[in-house]
Amino acid sequence: MALYVHKYGGTSVGSTERIKHVADNIINVREKGHDVVVVVSAMRGETNRLVALAREIQEPPNPRELDVLLSTGEQVTIALLCMALEQKGYAACSYTGAQVRILTDDAFTKARILDIDTDRIKDTLSAGKVIVVAGFQGITENGDITTLGRGGSDTTAVALAAALKADECLIYTDVDGVYTTDPRIEPRARRLNRITFEEMLEMASLGSKVLQIRSVEFAGKYNVSLRVLSSFTEGEGTLISYEEAGMEKALISGIAFNRDEAKLTVLGVPDRPGIAHKILGPIADANIEVDMIVQNIAPDAKTDFTFTVHRNDYKKAMDILQRTCTEMGAREISGDDKIVKISLVGVGMRSHAGIASKMFESLAGEGINIRMISTSEIKISVVVDERYLELAVRTLHEVFKLDQDVQSKESN
Ligand code: ADP
Ligand code: ASP
Ligand code: MG
Repeated sequence: MALYVHKYGGTSVGSTERIKHVADNIINVREKGHDVVVVVSAMRGETNRLVALAREIQEPPNPRELDVLLSTGEQVTIALLCMALEQKGYAACSYTGAQVRILTDDAFTKARILDIDTDRIKDTLSAGKVIVVAGFQGITENGDITTLGRGGSDTTAVALAAALKADECLIYTDVDGVYTTDPRIEPRARRLNRITFEEMLEMASLGSKVLQIRSVEFAGKYNVSLRVLSSFTEGEGTLISYEEAGMEKALISGIAFNRDEAKLTVLGVPDRPGIAHKILGPIADANIEVDMIVQNIAPDAKTDFTFTVHRNDYKKAMDILQRTCTEMGAREISGDDKIVKISLVGVGMRSHAGIASKMFESLAGEGINIRMISTSEIKISVVVDERYLELAVRTLHEVFKLDQDVQSKESN
């Protein structure tokens, strides 16, 4: 007998019909004699609806109150799924994050899980019931409700799987696995049978929202066997695991992209020690995360400095720059919030030169201007104008033959 954690996303529980279907899926596993702990998201669109309601009243909404509000979405689903299971003759019991006691820090709207008390779950499992836990939420030591950031139900599921030492954590969603790129952008994207934690982590942090980044971090850290699969169709999905000897290594595993980018440039700042700190210090103090940073060489003791931030922080960052950089004597400040970041990811890149130049060549061939570049051991990212997103992704998908199963290293 095995213990599985299942997670069902918003679309998978988007209607009472879908919830009944999920109940059948769980019953199938129970019938084989296995235990199941289920984590569910809010019904499709519900979290967005709640965020919009809050913003009609307060902008930005009070984070503590926003979490009280958002956590209601998942609470609806856990109750409905338990009713569906009971209706079909199976004993089930729902728990909110606070009831399980998923203890988090108090960073409202992006809290981190600190500890999970599994006693109650274990008792309920021993009583032969299916357990349905509300994803995306927890509670602080002081008893305040928190949420874990958008997509956070994935992290609830993986954290529960780690705490319960489950045999596998299955993330059921509206696609049948992790693809070489978002199939909504490139219909020729190919499902991967396997991907390493390392690659999945890069894909997730570079914009592939199929899994929340923290869930992948958790799975890697606690070695949770993680699978992404469809709640709509049968199939093995994609297994996310450590690299194993003999595993077929693709040069490039996938293409990730992030639409939420904006860039800011300070032109003609004096090139002297401490300048980066002077520009970015106040940005960090305002809790704005900076992603890429580029500083030019300075032929005339003046330099240009460019960095990217989340698009939601663009205006705030611009206001701060206007203040600090005028004081510093910068010539000009410019910005663009119509940019996107596109990244090639693959562990095979480590041992292969020439990927970057091939990437740049193929983008140039389509007349796509690269605004910024950054690289690490297993990824290359470029910033381009928003209007080129689809063209760039499809071009790279084709050039690197990602639609083909085994990419021969010679051909790349
Ligand atoms: P859920 O509500 O089940 O959590 P999400 O919308 O969070 O589902 O994640 C699934 C979506 O992720 C897919 O519909 C797909 O458009 C998108 N996606 C982005 N990148 C990828 C990728 N590389 N592979 C598969 N899906 C991806
Ligand atoms: N309902 C939350 C969201 O939409 C959490 C999740 O679905 O994972 O972000
Ligand atoms: Mg999700």
